[in-house]
Amino acid sequence: MGWVHDTGFGPAYDHEGWTSKVLDDGSDSSGWPLPAGRQVTGWRAACECGWRGVRVWSRDEWPSDDGFPPESVEDEGCYRQWQAHLHEVLPELAVYDAAQAAEAALRELNATVIDARSAGCSWERIGHAAGMARQSAHERWDELVRAATAPIPLDGRPPGEPLDSFGADVARRCRIARRLEGGHPSSAWSTSERLAVALVLRDWDHLTGMGYTQADAQQRVLGGLHTRTSDFGAWLDRIRFELNSAAGKGA
Ligand SMILES: [Zn+2]
Repeated sequence: MGWVHDTGFGPAYDHEGWTSKVLDDGSDSSGWPLPAGRQVTGWRAACECGWRGVRVWSRDEWPSDDGFPPESVEDEGCYRQWQAHLHEVLPELAVYDAAQAAEAALRELNATVIDARSAGCSWERIGHAAGMARQSAHERWDELVRAATAPIPLDGRPPGEPLDSFGADVARRCRIARRLEGGHPSSAWSTSERLAVALVLRDWDHLTGMGYTQADAQQRVLGGLHTRTSDFGAWLDRIRFELNSAAGKGA
């Protein structure tokens, strides 16, 4: 029904906010219908932690035919007050958001270096662009670039069918995992997506971390495929082949 600061910081989820109706007896109401005989006289911000905004937007000043708050009251008034409340009770929330943004920027920086190296750019030029010496750039990123662009060994299965749409999607996610996630599936993906990416990239630690054996993971991914493949190993190899052939092009 309301507003959630949805950036992944646990304590923020205890503060869902909304625009509360203020009734003519001074009480608050969040739902409909109103208690019998009562009227909406205004609105104020509210939060599930029990907080209520001090300021009331009166219906006299902000006309409303149906008792719903006008958009300006809801979006510019109550929502902003609730946001101010959130940052007042959780001053560290802004630190969390900024740290997340900094980490995302760092991963993006790594990805651009991987792309530049894949495009044949020298450490000299990359270092210059990043504001550091050739040697420093090499030391900082060489291992990362190698891990992200090294050919993935195939199991030597005969080439399977052309990739189905899920296979193409898994290949795309594998590229993201190698460019941005240090070769691991992103925790934001579905279980099947994570398992499939881990199988293709042979990320056995990740499977173990998810509580899956290789056989269980295969079973789960296979069960979700629209087009049943007769040879799952060939399906995985086909994706690896795609990744290897695209790696040199920086894709
Ligand atoms: Zn709150």
